[in-house]
Parts: sequence; structure tokens; C-alpha cells
Amino acid sequence: MVKINLPDSDLTLSNIVWCSHLEKRIQREAHQGHRGLVAWLTGLSGSGKSTIAQFVDEGLSRAGFQTIVLDGDNLRHGLCKDLGFSIADRNENVRRVSEVSRLFLEQGFIVLVALVSPIRETRDQVKHSFAESDFIEIHCKCSLSICRERDPKGLYAKAENGKIPEFTGVSSPYEEPLSPSLILHTSDESVEDSATRLLQMIVNQVKIERS
Ligand code: ADP
Repeated sequence: MVKINLPDSDLTLSNIVWCSHLEKRIQREAHQGHRGLVAWLTGLSGSGKSTIAQFVDEGLSRAGFQTIVLDGDNLRHGLCKDLGFSIADRNENVRRVSEVSRLFLEQGFIVLVALVSPIRETRDQVKHSFAESDFIEIHCKCSLSICRERDPKGLYAKAENGKIPEFTGVSSPYEEPLSPSLILHTSDESVEDSATRLLQMIVNQVKIERS
């Protein structure tokens, strides 16, 4: 168990001892034969994040990898159901999802996050809170017009009728990543092609190098 030195002034946290999972993670990774990783999919609503995350999850799981999908829509039914869509609430949503991802990463999981996460600075903070080899950012890049056309959950129609305020791409900004680990052009390529490219990147990244 490792005790982190916290500032004395922080009376709440100074009594909390962080339990190190590093050894357990290394053991688990050796046992399961692959490293843990957070693969963070960002993009407009309807750009294909959930579809691709599910597809990759199934492929990896069938091949014996430990995976979990953290889907923004699902999390908003439980863990994040108290949050709205203001920039502050969206940032809190991202923070919670990133902390849940960390818990699974520490158990050696491949965590597939499907979350609009529209603000670049917030995403960058998340990215920098993980070790470089533990995190990849994937941009599901799809034009707004195609996302609107697809409208798989009927949300664009509602947003355009004023029924959903602060909807990304309609009445709230989306800031594209500047240098993501991977761009999936989901307007042009098939689900299978996008998912296969991501799956291959993940499989390469989680390989345990044997010396
Ligand atoms: P998001 O999670 O980004 O809101 P969804 O995955 O829920 O988006 O919806 C994306 C829709 O677009 C689905 O109906 C999916 O079948 C369709 N689609 C078409 N081409 C692609 C592609 N290359 N990648 C992902 N989804 C695609």
C-alpha cells in the first residue's frame, strides 16, 4: 500500500490512503496476456462512437481480451444522471468517465469509451492524466450533415425543434482533436472498416513485449 503525500490543508483527502493496484495490474496483465488501455472515442452524436465501440468490444472479447465499453448515453442513466449539458456539467461528466476508466485500467482492462466529449481542453486534460502508453484518442470524424441525416436516436430533430437545449453541433460547440491517435472517417468508410482499423491499433498497443 502506498501513501500519497497530500497537502496538510486538505483535511478531507489527508485521511484517505490510496491503495496501489500497480502490482495487481502487472500480474493480471501477465496472466491475461495483454496490457490494459483506455481507447477514448470522441465525435459528434451519430458519428458512430457507440457502434464502433460495440463492434470492437465484441471482436476483442471473442478473441479472449478483457474489455468494457463505457458509453456516454448509458452512463447518463445512472452514474451521471444528475448532470445536464452545460459546459461545466459536460466537463464533470468527462471527469467521472475518466476516473471510472482509470479503475478498470488498473485492473488490466481495455476500456472503450464512447463519449461526445466536445471540449478539446477537457479531453487533453484527461489524456495527460494517463501514461502515454495507456491512452489513445480516436476521432470518429463525420460531417454534421451526415450525422443529422442518420440521426439514429432522433436527437438532432428534437434539438432543431428546440426540445434539447445545448445540443452538440446544433447549439453547443464541438472542438475536433488536433492530433488524435487515429481518425476514423465514418462518413465514408463502413462500420467494419472503421472498427477493424481501431481493433488492429488496440491489439498492437496492448501487446506485452517479452524481453
Ligand atoms: P454515436 O455513438 O456517435 O452517437 P451511434 O454509433 O449511436 O453514434 O450511431 C451511428 C450510426 O451511423 C449507426 O446507425 C451506424 O450504423 C451508422 N454508421 C454508418 N457508417 C458508420 C461507420 N463507418 N461507423 C460507425 N457508424 C456508422
